[in-house]
Amino acid sequence: GIDTTTLQRLDAAHHLHPFNDNAALAKRGTRILTRGEGCYVWDAEGNQLLDAFAGLWCVNVGYGRKELGRVAAHQMDELAYYNSFFQCTTEPTVRLSAKLAELTPHDLNHAFFTNSGSEANDTILRMVRHFWAVQGKPEKFNFISRHDGYHGSTVAGASLGGMKGMHKQGGLPIPGIHHIDPPYWFGDGGEMDEEEYGRVAAKRLEDKILELGPENVAAFIGEPVMGAIGVYIPPRNYWKEIERICRQYDVLLVADEVICGFGRTGNWFAAETFDFRPDVMTLAKGITSGYIPLGAVMFNDRVAEVLATKGGELAHGYTYSGHPVCAAVALENIRILQDEKIIETCRNDTGPYLAEKWKALGEHPLVGEARILGMVGALELVPRKPAREYFPDRGRVGQMCRDFALRSGLILRATNDAMLLSPPLVITKAQVDELAEKTWRALDLTARELGM
Ligand code: PLP
Repeated sequence: GIDTTTLQRLDAAHHLHPFNDNAALAKRGTRILTRGEGCYVWDAEGNQLLDAFAGLWCVNVGYGRKELGRVAAHQMDELAYYNSFFQCTTEPTVRLSAKLAELTPHDLNHAFFTNSGSEANDTILRMVRHFWAVQGKPEKFNFISRHDGYHGSTVAGASLGGMKGMHKQGGLPIPGIHHIDPPYWFGDGGEMDEEEYGRVAAKRLEDKILELGPENVAAFIGEPVMGAIGVYIPPRNYWKEIERICRQYDVLLVADEVICGFGRTGNWFAAETFDFRPDVMTLAKGITSGYIPLGAVMFNDRVAEVLATKGGELAHGYTYSGHPVCAAVALENIRILQDEKIIETCRNDTGPYLAEKWKALGEHPLVGEARILGMVGALELVPRKPAREYFPDRGRVGQMCRDFALRSGLILRATNDAMLLSPPLVITKAQVDELAEKTWRALDLTARELGM
């Protein structure tokens, strides 16, 4: 094989990394990962790392599942590819559509396949506008989403998202997309009780609908738990309120479950955790545990029926929509999640244990808030307690803590100065102990570096 230094040099010379300052990265040198097993990955230098971020919120069944590779190889041998464009399809694609209809809640019975979460969100922008237009309501065109939300990196995905840094590059958002403030309890002061804050945060949607005129609003889209910005866990009643408002003004409700789907919040879908009924749901990541690219949009009966009976030709699709190899891997991934009762174990056993250990990290002088739901959480780092303040030069302290964690063999992500947690769902209690201990140590080293 090629030695690590050569790989790093070639990487710096020829590979632009997403979401990176590539000049800084080239100086620092990338880490080359070579192998994974369960919750661990190894780099080319032989360092073992506990991956408390499941790759990118996605390796739900853990690394090294040979069954998934075997299923992919088998499907490639049988029929490596066919599309669904010309009145054809393949068995795994059909079986996966039916399986998703069974697994997703309520009447989300109709699947459209994409390669990624971004493409799933692109798909809904067009399909939802089309849904209204063919019913004689073309003015129902506007989407509402949240500031700081993340819905992907395509033009529509990044426009629906509310990341200011992304909007700056390339002149986004595209027209017809409006943002409201997210339910960010920590940032909003945290003084109201949960119920009241849930109502206040949801009312921002109603205010925006009334400002635009309900007859002009197509849909609201949101991540049930906002991931990339820092794991914002909304009050328990928030989504019920959002649903009530959407129904009142006949605005479609789209749940972006790209992170939350397939067990992350302790149920198969966060729509169950928060007990609400989306009309449309977007999926990716955990659908294959990241082993192969796949995304999906689930439409409910109402939307699918209008699209089928009035929509004419669905003028949308990808070469790899419903790719049989990806569908076969997704089916096997779902079988593993079901047969091994992985989500039930998270909900009843390892999840509560992780929550206890993670909340205990809130005792650290550097942690202003430790929040967690199921298998997703964050630590908000603060200069002093109990004030809800941020460090000046946001992001520096988070990166410092992330780097200390990495040096001691733990992968956590940092956004601003929040440390984000999203381990493989198969994490054991012993691994939770390791995670908690290494996180505490990284916090200690960070505090010492800051002279706290
Ligand atoms: N939606 C959410 C909530 C996400 O977190 C992501 C990716 O992190 C996406 C959409 C985009 O998915 P992808 O990166 O597969 O395009």
